[in-house]
Amino acid sequence: MGLVVQKYGGSSVRDAERVMNVANRIVETYDQGNNVVVVVSAQGDTTDDLIEKAQEINPKASKREMDMLLSSGEQISVALLAMAIEKLGRPVVSLTGWQVGVQTDTKYSAARIHKVKTERLHDELDKKRIVIVAGFQGINKYDDITTLGRGGSDTSAVALAAALGADVCEIYTDVDGVYTADPRFVKNAFKLDDISYDEMLELASLGANVLHNRSVEMAKKYHVKLAVKSSLNKVEGTYVKEVDQVEKMLVRGVTRDNDCARIALCGVEDTPGKAFQVFSLLSKNGISVDLIIQSIGNGVTKDISFTVTEGDLDHALQLIEEKKDLIKAEKVTWSKDVSKVSIVGAGMVNNAGVATTMFEALYDAHININMIATSEIKISVLVDQKDAERAVVAIHDKFML
Ligand code: ADP
Ligand code: ASP
Ligand code: MG
Repeated sequence: MGLVVQKYGGSSVRDAERVMNVANRIVETYDQGNNVVVVVSAQGDTTDDLIEKAQEINPKASKREMDMLLSSGEQISVALLAMAIEKLGRPVVSLTGWQVGVQTDTKYSAARIHKVKTERLHDELDKKRIVIVAGFQGINKYDDITTLGRGGSDTSAVALAAALGADVCEIYTDVDGVYTADPRFVKNAFKLDDISYDEMLELASLGANVLHNRSVEMAKKYHVKLAVKSSLNKVEGTYVKEVDQVEKMLVRGVTRDNDCARIALCGVEDTPGKAFQVFSLLSKNGISVDLIIQSIGNGVTKDISFTVTEGDLDHALQLIEEKKDLIKAEKVTWSKDVSKVSIVGAGMVNNAGVATTMFEALYDAHININMIATSEIKISVLVDQKDAERAVVAIHDKFML
């Protein structure tokens, strides 16, 4: 008997049959004597469909109104799931983010959770009800609905688990756990039994959308025991936890992220302070820069290239254009047709051979590397987007087979 938080993603509740399947699984956990809090996402492609609806009317709609719209997807799911559990004859209640009191900052469409109130949750659990909570949403100090960013229901679940001191937070999805690469296109990827918070955080941040990166950050901070499992079978999933590094594989995962764009400032004056001017301009405007390369200057000019998310590209170009008299680049070029391909593993610290092996895999596959970045537990390269999946497969084969 314990307190279990479960989260079911969009594909797990995409139609009536799947909703009933999830309801049965929840009831099973409840009948074992557990207190059960469930977080659920919008059904299937609902969120994408809602975005499309908004685009038809106003592609530049405010983020506040987008949040109002997108949060409705999860509100549908919680009601349907509660109805399914009612049908199975167990006590249940569905709640929106604001009914629970999921308090966030004011950053619409990418809000961060400040606090989760627990009074209502405890109250419902005391009444022995199964509690179904809408994921992905919260409320800010203006009493406006906010959303947590795409994939944010995972973070809702971990936040509730942390606030309630749950015994476990189970993330149910359409794969059996966290794999060494996206099993959708890497056929011989295999499931990991466990993975450290740090490795999972890197993988999630570098494009492995099986978990929202903030959920991993939060799980680590509040010591939430996190499990990723399939909602369609009973296979043992993957545990995300503090893992002892001894005897671990060098590389734990390979991933790619298509959400990046490259900007190149060519022929920039080769004087001190240029990089500072460019990157402070971007950071002051809330744009994060990821991979960076600067060519060796020839005393007259140098080139500076960097990547931003696709969503920030237009804004970044606009800022650079506004400050062109200061930056004085001979030419500014950009491309969205790039992808970041990364390997992650805590075991690669101080292992110089890992980078070489990764580059060799790309060489063998005739894939050109545009940029490289390394840190203690990851190596990322920028490649043309058309090559990204092939790059992941080639690197995965090299390390894992
Ligand atoms: P949900 O709707 O349940 O939140 P998501 O689509 O957000 O599901 O996440 C699950 C998907 O993540 C899987 O279908 C899989 O294609 C993808 N994925 C990407 N990288 C990985 C990985 N390393 N391990 C497992 N799944 C991954
Ligand atoms: N429904 C939201 C999305 O599609 C949140 C989530 O699924 O976690 O991004
Ligand atoms: Mg998800």
